[in-house]
Amino acid sequence: MRSKKVGGLVIAIDGPSGVGKTTVSGLVAKKLHLKYINTGSMYRALALAASDAGLDLEDDEALKEFCSTVNLDYEAGSGRIFVNGREYTDGVRSQKAGELASIISTRKIVRDFLVECQRTLGDGGSVVMEGRDIGTVVFPNADIKFFLDASHEIRTRRRHHELAEAGKPAPAEVGSEIKERDRRDMERSISPLKMAGDAIRIDTTEIGIEEVVETILKEIDARLKRGDIGS
Ligand code: C5P
Repeated sequence: MRSKKVGGLVIAIDGPSGVGKTTVSGLVAKKLHLKYINTGSMYRALALAASDAGLDLEDDEALKEFCSTVNLDYEAGSGRIFVNGREYTDGVRSQKAGELASIISTRKIVRDFLVECQRTLGDGGSVVMEGRDIGTVVFPNADIKFFLDASHEIRTRRRHHELAEAGKPAPAEVGSEIKERDRRDMERSISPLKMAGDAIRIDTTEIGIEEVVETILKEIDARLKRGDIGS
């Protein structure tokens, strides 16, 4: 019953680094049979490609020229991502990609280019899109918006855990890197990270992934039943 009405919805999930957005958004999309789009991986892939091309990531003229020639392919089902035919799917998860993405994402030319790609991908609806500005800029009219948050301490601990699980050493700077990325994301002049006025805030500091997913699904279900969303 629910999955029929869920079709067509645009669900926006925003929040800071290390809050669990990727896992939560992927699970919500899977449960509801919607497309899952991770916009962070687009900033990451574009940043890696620009860096591979030897560009200064703060040179707007060079970035403009670069974006005008870029063909970015994102496969919503698999999450595979290509820039001008070169695959960046594995590369995007690296620490370096996160750092470079956080720098390139402050540039207006890059944001304009990627927001356009994201709107095209989500236009038909039936999508869960996660990022920093989905509910505020990309889809301000999304059917339902969530903003995940958690204390800095717990986000740092989760990132340590993630790295350990992947068998990678967790550098002592993980905490300060998250802080620096938060600062850049919140202080940039274009589309800074902030909660949309009509988003539902979920503090994940003391609750696990499953509970967050459950809270989101319940809220969507309640709105569908009330007829606030869906058709
Ligand atoms: O979500 P993720 O950590 O993969 O994002 C990497 C970086 O890309 C973020 O730190 C942020 O600077 C940028 N980003 C953004 N807007 C989005 C998604 C990501 O500015 N919608």
